[in-house]
Amino acid sequence: MDKISVIIPCYNEEESLPMFYQETVKELNKIDNVSYELLFIDDGSSDCTIQILKSLSMKDKDCHYHSFSRNFGKEAAMFAGLQKVTGDYCVIMDADLQHPPTLLADMYHALKVEKYDCCAGKRLDRRGEGALRNFLSRTFYKLIRSLSNMDMNDGSGDFRMMTRQVVDAILEMKEYNRYMKGIFSFVGFDTKWVTFNNADRVAGETKWNLKSLFAYAFEGIISFSTKPLKLAGIIGILLLFIAGFLGVVMIAQLLMQNGIKDFLILLEIILVLSSLQMIFISILGQYLSKDYLENKKRPIYIIKESDQNHA
Ligand code: UDP
Ligand code: MG
Repeated sequence: MDKISVIIPCYNEEESLPMFYQETVKELNKIDNVSYELLFIDDGSSDCTIQILKSLSMKDKDCHYHSFSRNFGKEAAMFAGLQKVTGDYCVIMDADLQHPPTLLADMYHALKVEKYDCCAGKRLDRRGEGALRNFLSRTFYKLIRSLSNMDMNDGSGDFRMMTRQVVDAILEMKEYNRYMKGIFSFVGFDTKWVTFNNADRVAGETKWNLKSLFAYAFEGIISFSTKPLKLAGIIGILLLFIAGFLGVVMIAQLLMQNGIKDFLILLEIILVLSSLQMIFISILGQYLSKDYLENKKRPIYIIKESDQNHA
């Protein structure tokens, strides 16, 4: 009998969890001939998430949890989950029911019968998200596709079921700076896409704000592309040509004794150029700092407590 492991990263999800549990178990029970486990990763929640997980694990032998010592982020929680689960098939789901459990049976069918390695959910629309976030997300995916040569889909979240082989391949990637969408794309394998409509969160609030989304987008680009570094070189060379041309113009103007206005233009050019330099030094710094953190080999997460079965 196959075993399906469901990994659920949870950060302050006390309101969503009871409903998530009910719906997901209902759908899992509809699949014939499988056993399952639900592994909740409490990512340092400050609400009653841990209490709910404790009581779930006590009343249901198929429910387990690990609780982090602090908030390490969803990437870390997903990694921990993938490391700990034992199923033949693993699926990662959000706790807020934005990933419909009704798709689980189809996903399992795609892997078991249609012999795909992976079956991933793709949101059809971005209903329920602000216009600005919508626009920024689309722009980001366009940018990352052109920068990284990776097929990262707009609308593809982390909702996907994978075979054990795919999970093991992902676990081989032990990098500290984790960007799961890039990792999924990097490991390859045959993926079937199933679409679903974007549902609103059942309860609670999204954990993302504009600042954290920008940081995440930047992380994605830096982790999977070195093109920004090359871009710096290309822009540098272009600027050098322009500078050469301007130099000639400037000397000619100075010779004609043209006053203060020209000085201001000169200053403007210097400012623009030095700001560009600063930006690219900062990009370089970002790459170096990633390497610095990788080299420290810090743990990706720290577990504070977990239920007995999974200790
Ligand atoms: N999450 C997490 N750690 C975090 C932020 C989020 O484990 O630091 C979990 C969260 O509990 C949820 C999932 O990741 O189960 C998706 O988060 P959210 O719904 O806030 O993201 P959105 O759906 O708005 O992209
Ligand atoms: Mg959500």
